[in-house]
Amino acid sequence: MLSFSKLIVQFRFLVNCTHLPVTRKVISQVSISNNYFYGRNRIMAQKTIMSFFSSAPKKPVKLEQEVIHDEETDSNSDQSSPPANGKEKRSSKRQRLESNSSGSASEEASPPDKRRKSKRLRIESSGSETGPSPKSSPMKVEKSAGPPKTYNSPKSKKPKAKVDLSLLPKKETNKRKSSPTSELKVKEEVTSPTVKSEKAIKKEESVSPDSKKEESVSPVSKTESTDSEKKEDKVVPETEYNPAKSKYHPIRDACWSRGQEVPYLALARTLEAIEGTSARLKMVEILSNFFRSLLALSPEDLLPCVYLCLNQLAPAYHSLELGIAETYLMKAVAQCTGRSLAQIKSAAQKCGDLGSAAQSARATQRTMFAPPPLRCRRVLRALKDVAELTGHASVNKKIAKIQSLFTACRHCEAKYLIRSLEGKLRIGLAEQSVLQALALATATTPPAPGGATVLDASRGLPSDEFKARVDAHALTIKSTYCACPNYDALIPALLQYGVAALPEHCKLTPGVPLKPMLAHPTRGVHEIFNRFENEQFTCEWKYDGERAQIHVPANEDGSAPDLSRAAIFSRNQEDNTSKYPDILRRLPGLLRENVTSCVLDCEAVAYDVAAKKILPFQVLSTRKRKDAREEDIQVQVCVFAFDLLLLNGRSLVAAPLAERRRLLREHCREVEGEWHFATSKDCSTMEEVQQFLDEAVANSCEGLMVKTLTGDHARYDIARRSHNWLKLKKDYLEGVGDTLDVVVIGGYRGRGKRAGAFGGFLLACYEPEQEVYQALCKIGTGFSDEDLQTLSKELEQHVIEAPRNYYSYDRSHEPDAWFSAALVWEVRCADLSLSPAHRAAIGLVDHDKGISLRFPRFVRVRTDKTPEQATSAQQVAAMYLAQDQIKNQAAKPANLDDFY
Ligand code: ATP
Repeated sequence: MLSFSKLIVQFRFLVNCTHLPVTRKVISQVSISNNYFYGRNRIMAQKTIMSFFSSAPKKPVKLEQEVIHDEETDSNSDQSSPPANGKEKRSSKRQRLESNSSGSASEEASPPDKRRKSKRLRIESSGSETGPSPKSSPMKVEKSAGPPKTYNSPKSKKPKAKVDLSLLPKKETNKRKSSPTSELKVKEEVTSPTVKSEKAIKKEESVSPDSKKEESVSPVSKTESTDSEKKEDKVVPETEYNPAKSKYHPIRDACWSRGQEVPYLALARTLEAIEGTSARLKMVEILSNFFRSLLALSPEDLLPCVYLCLNQLAPAYHSLELGIAETYLMKAVAQCTGRSLAQIKSAAQKCGDLGSAAQSARATQRTMFAPPPLRCRRVLRALKDVAELTGHASVNKKIAKIQSLFTACRHCEAKYLIRSLEGKLRIGLAEQSVLQALALATATTPPAPGGATVLDASRGLPSDEFKARVDAHALTIKSTYCACPNYDALIPALLQYGVAALPEHCKLTPGVPLKPMLAHPTRGVHEIFNRFENEQFTCEWKYDGERAQIHVPANEDGSAPDLSRAAIFSRNQEDNTSKYPDILRRLPGLLRENVTSCVLDCEAVAYDVAAKKILPFQVLSTRKRKDAREEDIQVQVCVFAFDLLLLNGRSLVAAPLAERRRLLREHCREVEGEWHFATSKDCSTMEEVQQFLDEAVANSCEGLMVKTLTGDHARYDIARRSHNWLKLKKDYLEGVGDTLDVVVIGGYRGRGKRAGAFGGFLLACYEPEQEVYQALCKIGTGFSDEDLQTLSKELEQHVIEAPRNYYSYDRSHEPDAWFSAALVWEVRCADLSLSPAHRAAIGLVDHDKGISLRFPRFVRVRTDKTPEQATSAQQVAAMYLAQDQIKNQAAKPANLDDFY
């Protein structure tokens, strides 16, 4: 025993000198196992130590893991633990869950009686224990079959994800080849090995007395909670954290203790597990497991973690962006890892992902003095700091901050940190899935002030009852978020008051833009009558300008509107207030005396004041986009108000349009050339609609908006493209019904008179679930020569050396230049057809064919849409299926009435 203790001392010394994480881990394992060595063998310690010196990668093994399934097993194991202080006793209990890496040695350490009592689960190892990081255990995630992947989506590419092997030392190369996390194709989910690390013990010791106190006074309403609390000091090693584990326990399976700041590695491991699955339900479950641990142990970290999962720094309308060019990020990674910029660039190009390249580079680099581990809260704070840095030398300061974060990265942290800094996590996690995960987490582990006390509320509930509860939570959370899209308000209210009380505490608020209601396209007047057969509807002119959501808050005592805080938001919740000083100045003319606050839905349209005529959208688009000064404004606008969403502090979204319209007209005034109500008519025959459409077109409008007027369907469907609003555009009657907004991903060099510019382009739609741009068609018509010159010039700034790994296209369409997804163009087409080569909406209508546009023509640049707001694959499929010749086919379009 004496010699073994000496050995530990020597190893501790070695750790302090080298700061090698590998050494640390071995030491921690040796230290933790220490209890067992009193009365057990030295061979195990020697084995563990020998394995440190051995550089050979582990062979793929079939291993047996023990899983604690019931409380009885736990208590038994408690009894057989060597008596020491409480902590040691608990830590020894952890020994029963052996990790791949601790291998047989730890299994020997597990008393045989304990092993017999716990159930065994045979799992297949995917190879070595190395994920992208050599020391992290792979997370086993069940993969769904999904649609056939004949394209290069990030998910489908994952198994083939290449990491620049040249950046790895030889001994790691094999491991990496054999088992990046994304390669996991495992039928069983793995249970986390739960050896308590030395660091973990230290951490536990440092838990504040307050949190301990809080722990002891926490009300516990279930036996399970009491048992869990007994064990909650134990933590899974951070590198082994696995939120994809089946029967996940929010305390026992967490890698931090109550009251501690959540390690960034826990989040990174969660993102990694999500990236490793393509099944949406599984993604939601994984994330909800992580959230459950937050609810139980560190509720105050839920907000930063939600932001980090969404890769947002603040509410979307704050427009807080990191603003770091890819090259600067590459430079930062190169400098931190002792590589050249060229090396990092080529590594990123090879694997199509700077995050993975950065992780590989980081994994092979050792630091003399390891910085303290990253914590979620602090990472978010640091990212905000980066975003807020402006002015002279801000780039260098940003790089310095990024470097300090990067050098503290462990395991897969580097990958997700760099992707966050790039602005996109690309793990296929849409905001709706995050909200769904919150719903599942709160239904299972209901939030309570001071931390959740019921850890598994699904216990004892019939599954359909529990599912109904989750659905109810999801509806409440999603609708509340739609009305008040601000996590800074939503998450604290959720923690404080619970889900049911959310709508009471997070309401539609002037100043917080909501996602607007959108309309479905139609191709003819007859479609309107089919849809609104038994409903009362109204038609409005569809103005061709820019959506303006006008918010006027009340002053402090609520007695009058505070015009100095009025704001105007775009369709995408961007703050356009500084673009329209003229509209703000005119607000007193609009609001009648009885208005103290309001939110109006309007269209701002370019207007010829003298001729009293609406001007085309192209004229409006010449206006300065930010910080306009009224005296410099050349293009006058007239605002056409078509909805009232809040009046004097009362939300009207649940009221029918007829009532909202009445209130709008009662409380607002029309002012010639400045404020008008949208021209409307409640038509009852096809002829009336047709005539009204002709009038709209004659008055420079795009067509009609047809809206349900009374009844339940006439509410304002926030954040939905709803069938309760239909758009009827003049150009598309009996055609495909609408234009498409597509992303330009490639260019073909022009010949002849187009030489020197691009003459054709490769266009893509967006698949939000997999976060892929799917090639939709090539386009070469609809452009004037001048268009081509300007567009080519703009696109040259977005040229990239290779296609992104989230572009899905056929090699036969390979363009001369690839572009980063930046520009959105509106295009129209004769019709849509199935295509064996194009990838748009692949799997949605046909198993392995995509959809492409026939005779596409360029209409205009959509500066108001981001690439992710382009026409989605689901919309393309719906448009294809809505064509008369296709309509009778069995397949049905996706339900697009859901939240977008
Ligand atoms: P979408 O917003 O549906 O994705 P889009 O941005 O291409 O598509 P359109 O399909 O051209 O826009 O039409 C919808 C837009 O029409 C609304 O977002 C709004 O800005 C504008 N609009 C004009 N008049 C009205 C009206 N009377 N009612 C509602 N919206 C109107």
